[in-house]
Amino acid sequence: MSVETHVHQRRPYRGSHIATRLVGPMTIVALVVALAVLWVAARPAGPAGTFIGQLLGAEAVLLLSLGLVLISTLRWVEQYFDGVDKAAVWHRRVAIVGTALIGVHIATASNPNPTNLGPTFGTIGIVGLAALTLWAIAPRWRSITPRPLRTAILRLMQTPAASSVGRWIGGYGLWRGFHRTTGLFLAVGFAHGLMDATTFGSPLLRWSYVAIGGVGLAFYVYRELLARHVTPLHDYVVSSVEPIDASSVEIWLRPLGRRFAFRPGQFAFVNLEAKDGWHRHPFTIASGPAEDEVRITVRAVGDFTSSIGDLVEPGMPAVISSPKGHFDYCRGTERQIWVAGGIGVAPMLSWLRSARPGQLPHRVDFFYTARGPAPLADEVAHIAGHHDELHLHLVDTTTDPRLTVPDLLGASGGQPEEVSAFLCGPEAMVTALQRDLVRAGVKPANVHREYYNLR
Ligand SMILES: Cc1cc2nc3c(=O)[nH]c(=O)nc-3n(C[C@H](O)[C@H](O)[C@H](O)COP(=O)(O)OP(=O)(O)OC[C@H]3O[C@@H](n4cnc5c(N)ncnc54)[C@H](O)[C@@H]3O)c2cc1C
Repeated sequence: MSVETHVHQRRPYRGSHIATRLVGPMTIVALVVALAVLWVAARPAGPAGTFIGQLLGAEAVLLLSLGLVLISTLRWVEQYFDGVDKAAVWHRRVAIVGTALIGVHIATASNPNPTNLGPTFGTIGIVGLAALTLWAIAPRWRSITPRPLRTAILRLMQTPAASSVGRWIGGYGLWRGFHRTTGLFLAVGFAHGLMDATTFGSPLLRWSYVAIGGVGLAFYVYRELLARHVTPLHDYVVSSVEPIDASSVEIWLRPLGRRFAFRPGQFAFVNLEAKDGWHRHPFTIASGPAEDEVRITVRAVGDFTSSIGDLVEPGMPAVISSPKGHFDYCRGTERQIWVAGGIGVAPMLSWLRSARPGQLPHRVDFFYTARGPAPLADEVAHIAGHHDELHLHLVDTTTDPRLTVPDLLGASGGQPEEVSAFLCGPEAMVTALQRDLVRAGVKPANVHREYYNLR
């Protein structure tokens, strides 16, 4: 087993990422406040209720336009929001709030003399946006449903009719295909505003509305029509597909041309041509940047990943798009806690496979937890043996209790305010540990997590 010796210069911790993490969300808040101030300052004569309703409609267009900017896949947007995964989280948040605001807008805004088509456009817009939003958040229904209602909903979902509908709409591919029509529904809702708003006697309000909706729709057109032609793509071929255990495989990809450059811990959209056609999924690059071949470790969770070992064979083509993500231990303090759950070890594998002895922070406690034997645990332990500062804690939850924050901080031994944590694994585990670390005194900006679910 070889240990990568890629020179990956570690930057000293300066805390500059704190600003990076806040700047995106604060910009959203600032734009929402600025629009409200503009509307109040330029308010034309008319009833207050209608004015507020139309202001909420304009705020909804702003939020939904920002949602389209956030999902545009442009590199600078990703950097502004500290990674495409965080941009996806904010995309979801602004879309949910924007759609909810349209509900209030419908109840409060009124135009006694609407145009012929305006109200129809408005109805198409809100029905489409509401349906797409509900569909997007459906897999997380538990987190938004009050506890007493959950059992009843679960029972309903277990009926044969509901479960066959659930299987149909639960598929990621179908959902994503429809989700890409979001911009079309925003466009008709936006047109409804232009046609029927009574406040647009004010040129300032009209043109700011046009600019906001126009920007959102321009980003949508870019994403849907242009992005695929300008995104750098790297041609690879599958060189091997190795089973790691019963539910995960490691896929090796050999470059056909220029090698794909990335930072350890980043992920990329990997297009694989399998026996049943092309599949495009985000995977963390688990190899080190200096290795000739790119490695990804894949866990069976859904339709494609469950049959990847049968569908993908050596010799099949693969295309990797540009690297994304900011999950990088170099952004942490000198005392770090890493937690990987199962296949969430992938970014840590890339870090370890590329770090030279003496290059890691002063002390790293690496908790690697899995139910049963952890994937590639032998290699992780072997590499850990080359780093005095790395303390590996393997946790098998079939026999050991689940990790808690006192376990993490106790092993690390540092003051919570000195510690940085890097978490990657099942969403529930990562969310609970993130919350408890902050409660225990770790600075929120020092808790870094990788989102493995962009929906
Ligand atoms: C940043 C990031 C890094 C990831 N790294 C790894 C990794 O190193 N190893 C690993 O095993 N898994 C990784 N995943 C998860 C992996 O992308 C999904 O498990 C995989 O896409 C599931 O595909 P499926 O067809 O088997 O599942 P499906 O049944 O189609 O979907 C299951 C769930 O996977 C997600 N998903 C499916 N297709 C996509 C897609 N094209 N784009 C985005 N999300 C999708 C959705 O949340 C969906 O609900 C990563 C995900 C993200 C967001």
